Amino acid sequence: MHPIPITREWFDEVMVPNYAPAAIIPVRGEGSRLWDQQGRDYIDFAGGIAVTGLGHAHPQLVAVLTEQAQKLWHVSNVLTNEPALKLARRLCELTFAERVFFANSGAEANEAALKLARKYAADHFGLDKREIIACNQSFHGRTLFTVTVGGQPKYTQGFEPLPPGVTHVPFNDLEACAATVSDRTCAVIVEPVQGEGGVTCATPEFLQGLRELCDRHQALLIFDEVQCGNGRSGHLYAYMAYGVTPDILTTAKGLGGGFPISAMLTTHAIAQSLNVGSHGTTYGGNPLGCAVAGAVLDLINDPELLAEVSRKHDVFKAGLHRINQRFGLFRELRGMGLLLGCELVESWQSRSREFIKAALDEGLLILVAGPDVIRLAPSLIIPDELIAEGLRRFEQAIARLLSATTS
Ligand SMILES: *Cc1c(COP(=O)(O)O)cnc(C)c1O
Repeated sequence: MHPIPITREWFDEVMVPNYAPAAIIPVRGEGSRLWDQQGRDYIDFAGGIAVTGLGHAHPQLVAVLTEQAQKLWHVSNVLTNEPALKLARRLCELTFAERVFFANSGAEANEAALKLARKYAADHFGLDKREIIACNQSFHGRTLFTVTVGGQPKYTQGFEPLPPGVTHVPFNDLEACAATVSDRTCAVIVEPVQGEGGVTCATPEFLQGLRELCDRHQALLIFDEVQCGNGRSGHLYAYMAYGVTPDILTTAKGLGGGFPISAMLTTHAIAQSLNVGSHGTTYGGNPLGCAVAGAVLDLINDPELLAEVSRKHDVFKAGLHRINQRFGLFRELRGMGLLLGCELVESWQSRSREFIKAALDEGLLILVAGPDVIRLAPSLIIPDELIAEGLRRFEQAIARLLSATTS
């Protein structure tokens, strides 16, 4: 008996065409390396889109997952469970939070945050306070509400009618926000570091100014740390680096290290608006996800690991700068911790995706953040040797792409 080989062609035969995956299929991962069906190895600078913060198949995470898998997978929220309670208590100890809601994806955590903001305003101020302010280029997920709040019109086209009461302002433009936030505003939502929108850090003045505007107008400040949270910024959560505390924080991606789980953190007073029956999810807070996330949090909440993230940021920056001295390809290198963006010079803009393919051919996984920015989001514990080898492959990929294009 020969099993039928599973190939990339199957994707086009049986999957909805909303993704365009690369030609290779990875079958195994270890740390910051992946192997495809043919046994070819890849260095992972993509981290499953800033998700696998502790690399692939981290032994402690595998141990916790398999141990929990032997005990209890799912009970629904008709019952609570030990891993969820333990994780929620830990998140409350380590952050501003006093109450936690678990879900399964970033979009769901944001959906909960936005619904909570509307409900809180309805409970305390009446139905005139409905407006949600968000930033251009922001990304908050793909449910109809979160995609509407996101500031990238290409993601809402064709899905109208959209939920009303959402206004967009330019990111890092405090004056525009001040002109827009009013007593009708129930929440301002912002990513401290915009990920999908191009790896752009908020300025400290912007976040501080939003905090003051929200206080003045009794609006809730929501930080979307789905991508920049869980150590990626070099701090457990990016708000800690800025010294600006939100009313609600959402996180996902890195929280489960690859197991789907998300969380919405808030205060006791605000949480009261999600009273019994007002919101829910079947899988949110399931024992498997919470057990894994508990282990992830313990490993990441380590001053030494977080300091290493910032040091590796400098290693990447230095390497990318050196590559750029050779090719003059990047107009700006930016980001925070191990979320890095390389904005392409004018002549290469709108062509970021070509670098994904070129890197793959050299055995390297990278990401883009829009058409003009190459994005790197490797494991937080990637060894220096693999950073060096990955950057060598990146340089080789760029050299090939540039010579193929100019010749
Ligand atoms: C990825 C992302 C989301 C959406 O998360 P999903 O798990 O894909 O629903 C929301 N906000 C930000 C900032 C993200 O990067």
